Amino acid sequence: MRNTLPSLTLLALLTSFLAAAPAPAQKTPIQITADLSDAPRKLYHAEIDLPVQAGPLTLTTPQWIPGDHRPTGPVDSITGVVFTANGQPLPWRRDDVDLFQFHLTIPKGVTTLHAHLDCIVTARVTQKIAVLEWEKLLLYPAHTPVRDIAIQPSLIVPAGWGIGTALEPLGPGAYPVPANGSTTHFAATNVEQLQDSPVIAGRYFHEFALAPTVTPKHYLDVVSDEPEDSSLRPAFLAEVANLVREADALYASHHYNAYHFLLTLSDVAGIEGLEHGQSSNNGVNEKGYADDAHQLPMADLLSHEFTHSWNGKYRRPVGLYQPDFATAQQGALLWVYEGMTQYLGNVLAARSGLDTQAQFRDLLALTAARLDSRPGRQWRSTGDTAIAASILREGSQAWSNWKRGQDYYPEGELLWLDADTLIRKLTANKKSLDDFQKIFLAKGGNTGPLIVPYTFDEIAQDLNAVVPYDWAGFLHDRVDKINPHADLAGIEQGGYKLVYKDKPSAGERTLTSSEGPHGGGLDCWFSLGIEVGADGSIYDVRWNGPADKARLAPGEKILAVNGRIFSSDALKDAIKSAKGTSQTISLIVQAESFVSTTEIDYHDGERYPALERVEGTPALLDEITKPLTTPEKAPAENKDAE
Ligand SMILES: [Zn+2]
Repeated sequence: MRNTLPSLTLLALLTSFLAAAPAPAQKTPIQITADLSDAPRKLYHAEIDLPVQAGPLTLTTPQWIPGDHRPTGPVDSITGVVFTANGQPLPWRRDDVDLFQFHLTIPKGVTTLHAHLDCIVTARVTQKIAVLEWEKLLLYPAHTPVRDIAIQPSLIVPAGWGIGTALEPLGPGAYPVPANGSTTHFAATNVEQLQDSPVIAGRYFHEFALAPTVTPKHYLDVVSDEPEDSSLRPAFLAEVANLVREADALYASHHYNAYHFLLTLSDVAGIEGLEHGQSSNNGVNEKGYADDAHQLPMADLLSHEFTHSWNGKYRRPVGLYQPDFATAQQGALLWVYEGMTQYLGNVLAARSGLDTQAQFRDLLALTAARLDSRPGRQWRSTGDTAIAASILREGSQAWSNWKRGQDYYPEGELLWLDADTLIRKLTANKKSLDDFQKIFLAKGGNTGPLIVPYTFDEIAQDLNAVVPYDWAGFLHDRVDKINPHADLAGIEQGGYKLVYKDKPSAGERTLTSSEGPHGGGLDCWFSLGIEVGADGSIYDVRWNGPADKARLAPGEKILAVNGRIFSSDALKDAIKSAKGTSQTISLIVQAESFVSTTEIDYHDGERYPALERVEGTPALLDEITKPLTTPEKAPAENKDAE
């Protein structure tokens, strides 16, 4: 229904969206009460009252979920659907083609339809934590723009649990920790905004007010499985407060009434990062922010999702913004939506102290090296990974380097670093990508939650407003063409070069430590060309690399190396001792129930990527990651469930 809008000017778009946002067309709101009191048993319940008229009615649940970039609406988990009118049960029939839709006939004289439904929840819920993304429980008229459907939400949580959400509570006292058994009511909104306003609830709940000098207000709402974890350490809280100040300085606008970082700390609820306009749904492991080593792989989580409030939520590619959650989203500009956010999230993490400038460079080296040795780039453009996003999201790791995955994230990071350093070069360091953000993301000044779509042409125009250049050509070359090598120009313009060393960087050592995400495995991707776990399991084999030539395959397991039982150290020793010799590395490999031997013909030793400073050139990379504001220790206020 809204496939292309290139002929409309931004002003016309802004006007139409501003006009439409405040007052939903449908006067009487749907009433929905989400009951999470059964969350520990992995069940959410909803009671919904819908204003109706006599005649045929089609209701729907959401299908294409914003931010997921694919049709993940949980209709298969919705159960116990019962409709009643004036106390009498009403029959329904599912649509034969669109399985998200329910058809009913409303009898004469009925003005309110009651619906009950349950959702079986398989993720982001524990004995002590519940996360509610509202698509789990939503039901509303089909074929209607979701921003035109008024809805008033209410919430019940287990006794003693606290609530974090960007929804505006009604009435005093009950929020964020409601009295036992009481219902929290929230101000009426529309279905589009409700879907965009998740709730976290938990037994061990803390709300921290952040950076009180910044308007509007920002909060960090934390729930955890263990009581001590939600008392986050002061250094981390100061870094998140820095993030609020840094984003305020960088984006020079806000598109929310208040912002809530919603965070779960749990080994069961797991890793998550989902953006919303006025909040973000973040999950890390129980000790994910407990010390610097655990924090490194998650350093850019909050800065990435926060950036999406501007880039992705306020400004959204035209094909990714549809009037309802039934129309397919188009991913062609995800290298802006996700790719630029990947860049800005990492830059803001370094500026805020969530990681260091050196760690920023170590992670960037890994990203650049991975992309440069991604053989899938020989047949598929970065742009194609964006267009195909909805079918690439959950692929297996096997042969993923040949297939390519969601490369629009890291490719976008390199592309926007290239653009940033190019602007600095062209303007004798007087301007930067920061100036582009002040045009592109701050258009219209401060607003409440609002979605303003954009096209490729607007991106090129706004870059030209910073400094004239063939920006359309620059972007097309990097996105649409087959490029056998990664875009390393930003690193080089930034005063560094990508090199390979025989020892991992400090950042990579942290990532591969037994505490890190690779769980003590050995990185031999740039040497042997395998992704191997600490137990010898092969997750992926680099297409055309030494292990590929030795006919190894993902899913196999290395049992022994050069006559010794497999260990990361045994494999490392074998790579070292084959260096510069003609001696091959001999492996015993298990494939399903068979065992065989193979020889890898590789003699270049260990290889780990790093960025090396090119002396005599401006160190723009370090300029980019320097804070814009003065870091300070923020006093954190506490409102606890304890
Ligand atoms: Zn993202």
